[in-house]
Amino acid sequence: MSLPFAEPYKIKMVESIHRSTLKERTQWIKDANYNLFNLLSNQVYIDLLTDSGTGAMSDKQWSAIMSGDESYAGSRSYTELKDAVADIFGMPFFLPTHQGRAAENVLFSALVKENDIVPGNAHFDTTKGHIEFRKAQAIDCTIAAAYDTHIDHPFKGNLDLEKLEQVITEHGAKNIPFIVVTITCNTAGGLPVSIENMKEVKQLAEKHNIPVLIDSARFAENAYFIKERESGYKDITIIEIIREMFSYADMMTISAKKDGIVNIGGFIGMKDEDVFKKSTVFNILFEGFITYGGMAGRDMAALAQGLYESTDYHYLESRIKQVAYLGSLLSDAGVPVQKPFGGHAIFLNALEFLPNIKREEYPAQTLAIELYKEAGIRGVEIGTIMADRDPVSRTNRYPNLELVRLAIPRRVYTNNHMNYIAAAAIRVWERKDEIKRGYEITEEAPIMRHFTVKLRPLS
Ligand SMILES: *Cc1c(COP(=O)(O)O)cnc(C)c1O
Repeated sequence: MSLPFAEPYKIKMVESIHRSTLKERTQWIKDANYNLFNLLSNQVYIDLLTDSGTGAMSDKQWSAIMSGDESYAGSRSYTELKDAVADIFGMPFFLPTHQGRAAENVLFSALVKENDIVPGNAHFDTTKGHIEFRKAQAIDCTIAAAYDTHIDHPFKGNLDLEKLEQVITEHGAKNIPFIVVTITCNTAGGLPVSIENMKEVKQLAEKHNIPVLIDSARFAENAYFIKERESGYKDITIIEIIREMFSYADMMTISAKKDGIVNIGGFIGMKDEDVFKKSTVFNILFEGFITYGGMAGRDMAALAQGLYESTDYHYLESRIKQVAYLGSLLSDAGVPVQKPFGGHAIFLNALEFLPNIKREEYPAQTLAIELYKEAGIRGVEIGTIMADRDPVSRTNRYPNLELVRLAIPRRVYTNNHMNYIAAAAIRVWERKDEIKRGYEITEEAPIMRHFTVKLRPLS
């Protein structure tokens, strides 16, 4: 018998979480206007709202917090982080920012102008937002398989090279400031991009003299999938895979709140000094001086440590396998979940889960509320509420899928928690026929309505 996977760490500090009663939760979700973002954290037992900034730091990261250097300029902690970025990603130029979207704001201020075209694989919403805010256009070039839940493909985050070339030919390389490769592809369910695809994208980009930007939030999880799934990488270490991945990029932006395993932070990495100089101006304007840019010295020190911890194979194995463990518990019980499982979350397919609920009554939101009421678990709707209204017709935009995302924070929950989550979802699944009506919106914001929307149950 081979040995099973287990976490390569033990627990030194714990935080209490509380189970509540159905009666309490029924009242709390009503008080929250049936919007899970309005719940207080102490009304939630297991919080799967996001894996961003919710990870647990290690003892070494906490010691880095204590010894961080808070000098305004030339901080030792800045140098530590700069050295880590050069060592892991091969990016000699670097600017810290307070989180991922701030890195986008700074870099795009330097590089993106009106009418530009930015092709990529299912751009993350803030990335797209920062492109469109500058009156430029983001064009999705993800492979078609990414949007077909019935196709099994090891790298559903890949870019379609033909489509990419077509976009370049149609719009002209001079109107394309860079191509974005998002790893793992968050919008497509945390699915990875292969190293072969990254290499081919870089070759195509080079032919047209276009730089490549890696949106790197889950760089380590992507490297793990390459090691497990791509031929020729089984015996290559994670850090070597990461170095090769970033050899096919000219720049990177990163939200360090994911694979950096810190609670706040981000940065830009660059190979070109000119891009660095241009970005520096905006970094000082928006974030802070170049040697701290929106981060405290202690946070930079914790991040430098976190980046290395994230490249540990046994950590990644336990992380990804924990997510898959939850996915398999659900799938084995017949609960409709998206496959293959991604690196950071499991997605419940609400259209198959609650076929009685009409699209206009928000099946994914209904399911997320039921899961909360059942067991105090907070997931997030990725469906019609999040998709917003069409800006012109103001009617609801119905996306292809109605999903409830259960994002797993890093190093926070045990597999007993996974058992609990699965049991709760299976209980809802068993009483799905009793769930006959969904919700209607009583109040909503003109954009990004999901954060503040108010709802009312229909009966
Ligand atoms: C989270 C994320 C961002 C934005 O980062 P924030 O730290 O939330 O500002 C950008 N791109 C990807 C792929 C992300 O996952």
